[in-house]
This record gives sequence, C-alpha cells and structure tokens, in this order.
Amino acid sequence: MDNHSPALFLGDALALDFLNSVATPVDMPVEWIDDGEGLLRWLDQAKLVPREALESMRIQALPGELDKVADQARNLREWFRAFVREHKGKQLKPDTLAELEPLNRLLERDEGFSRVVARQADEGAVFEFQPMRKWRSPEALLLPVGEALGRFVCSEDFSNVKACEGPSCTLLFADHTRGHRRRWCSMALCGNRAKQAAHRHRVRQA
Ligand SMILES: [Zn+2]
Repeated sequence: MDNHSPALFLGDALALDFLNSVATPVDMPVEWIDDGEGLLRWLDQAKLVPREALESMRIQALPGELDKVADQARNLREWFRAFVREHKGKQLKPDTLAELEPLNRLLERDEGFSRVVARQADEGAVFEFQPMRKWRSPEALLLPVGEALGRFVCSEDFSNVKACEGPSCTLLFADHTRGHRRRWCSMALCGNRAKQAAHRHRVRQA
C-alpha cells in the first residue's frame, strides 16, 4: 500500500479522516498528503473540493505552490491531532475555545457565498440554495478542511472520539455505534489482527 492507494475513510467523521491521512495500515507508514498532488488526491477522495476546482488548481498553480499548501495542510493536521488527542474521551469544555484560535484564523479567510441552483431531485422545491466558494488561490484548498474541523468541534461529542486499540495503530475514529463499544479502526485492519492474536494466545494456553 502506498499513497496512490485509496486513502482511509474509517473515522466516521471527516475531521478524523483528515487526521488519518497519515497512517500505518500495514507495516509501512503512508503519508497521503506528502505533496501538492497528494493533497489534491486526498481532497478529491474526501469530496471536499469539486473536481473542476482541483483541476484548475493543478493547471494554474505555480511550480511548488501546491507543495507549500500541502505543507500547511500537514501543519494544520498535526496541530489538530494534538488538540484531539488531548481532548478525546471526554466532552469539550468552553475554556478550550482559546486553543482553537488557529482554526478561527483559518476560517476567517473563507470566501464563501451561496447561489440559487436548479434542484437535482424532481420533487419539492424547484431551486435550492447551494453553498459555494471562490477558489482564488491554492491556499483556498485549506478552507473546506478548516470548515470540516470547525463543524466537527461544534457537533461531535468528544466522549465518543477514540484511538484504535491496535498496538501500533494511530487511527482515530468517532464511535457512533449504539453501545459505544467500537474498539478498532476497522475489523479488516486491526480487529482481525486482535482476534487472531487472542486465538493464538488461547491455543498456546490450551
Ligand atoms: Zn487500527
């Protein structure tokens, strides 16, 4: 598996999938946002930026410009990882707002607007109010990521934010299962490994 493989979307929250864009799914660490192209691929898979906008960024960006934005994306990611790691497992307190200042500074740069478009579905209203964004510079690619992080801290119960229990796994997820007993990033990656280890342990003991 390398960073041209599909990225992982196991977090049940886009903000956590962003954190999971660097991971060690098998043995080797994979960095999906290693450069500008990696960032474009991840944003496309996350459906955070329309494909046409990604394409025009790719064509219009100056050499190295997208790589610089990828650096910023990784910095944003690691800053947010520290925040999530510190606060996961319990509800957020109002006084953590001060820690979110870097996120609010990013969100301030947003150039969002809305427009009236024809509705896709046949039923109900003829038009819908669609949020849009001006993609003036490559740095604008960080804005939908910032929005996902902002929505996450406003809507997610951090009591449900967990780290996978896999011994060498770094993946984070929001446990939205009914009994809140989710332990693994996925059965395929860590759950089965744990099951096999428990099985070997039982066999040895028998
Ligand atoms: Zn895991």
